[in-house]
Formats: sequence, structure tokens, C-alpha cells
Amino acid sequence: MKLTNRSKVVSNKEMTFMEKLYLPAIVKGMGITLRHALEGSKGKVFAYPEVQKPRAKVWRGLHVLKRDEEGRERCTACGLCAVACPAEAITMTSAERTKDEKHLYREEKYASVYEINMLRCIFCGMCEEACPKSAIYLTDRLVDVESNRGSFVYGKDKLVEDVNNRIDITDRQSELQKKAVK
Ligand code: SF4
Ligand code: SF4
Repeated sequence: MKLTNRSKVVSNKEMTFMEKLYLPAIVKGMGITLRHALEGSKGKVFAYPEVQKPRAKVWRGLHVLKRDEEGRERCTACGLCAVACPAEAITMTSAERTKDEKHLYREEKYASVYEINMLRCIFCGMCEEACPKSAIYLTDRLVDVESNRGSFVYGKDKLVEDVNNRIDITDRQSELQKKAVK
């Protein structure tokens, strides 16, 4: 059954003599590169990283673990984000909140360890859709460049939002999520 009209039939036809030369294709490619270079001032080419292309408000980038209005971590370590993750990128360890920690964690159970492997993540957004506590959202931030694989496993130190530097995610919240936030 055909669900969309986006599929293309792949051709296995023999290459022509001109195609086998590759030169016309190379010249055509260089022409496209030159055109993009000349059109740089028109906003199509960016001198990254000094100049960054504006990203959409709902762009799916680096995650944030949100705090509530009192600065307490929202995550209750229910594990639904990890179950929903198709890349199996999320792992966590839950712990029980003590009486003295009520100002730190919103629920009685919290994630003492919460990690996302950014090399596995495909930034699909399933984790934020699965979360019943409005605790995890993707943002328009980028994952840092690292020089070893282990550094791409982001823990709470990189994921939980800074209480003094909150991240506004209202633009990407669905109506259901906005209602769920208390
Ligand atoms: S964005 Fe997708 S792949 Fe990445 S952690 Fe969330 S659910 Fe997993
Ligand atoms: S981020 Fe949300 S879904 Fe994931 S463990 Fe925490 S509360 Fe559960």
C-alpha cells in the first residue's frame, strides 16, 4: 500500500558516455558551489561558527531537564522517556527524596543519575512527548563538539537547567503540555 507520493523509483540504467566522464557533473557541482558562494550575502551561506543560521523555535536540539517555578527538578524518574526513545539513548537511576530534599525535587522519587548519549540520540523528540511531568524538552541549543566518545554522554550537570538561567520552552509546548504544568 502506498502511503505517500514521496517515494521515487530508482533507475538502474546504464551510464552514458558523458556520465562516465564525470567531468560535466563535476563542472555542474562547482557551478552550484560558486553560485552559493556568490549568494552568501543574500543569507544562504553562513560563516559558521561566527555567524549562525537562525533556528526555528521548535528546532530539536540539545535537551533540557526542566525545573518547576520553585526551582525543583521536575523529573520523577518514571522512565517513560527511556522507554519511548527509539535509539535507547536515555538511562537513569531513581532515588527516594528525603525530607531535607523537598526544595530540590518536586516528586517523592527523582533521578539521581540521568544520562543521554548524544551519539545515539536522533533528536526525534519522542522523549518530550512521552514525559508526563513536562520535565524534558528539546531546545534550539547545539551539542558541543567533543574529542572523545565518553564526553557525549550528557549527565544532569549538562541537562538540568540552571536555576538562575532558565530556558523558555513555551513555544514548543503543546496545549496538553501547557495544561499539565502546575
Ligand atoms: S530525542 Fe529521540 S532519540 Fe533523542 S533521547 Fe529523546 S527520544 Fe531518544
Ligand atoms: S524526564 Fe519525564 S518521562 Fe523521563 S523519567 Fe523524568 S519524568 Fe519520566
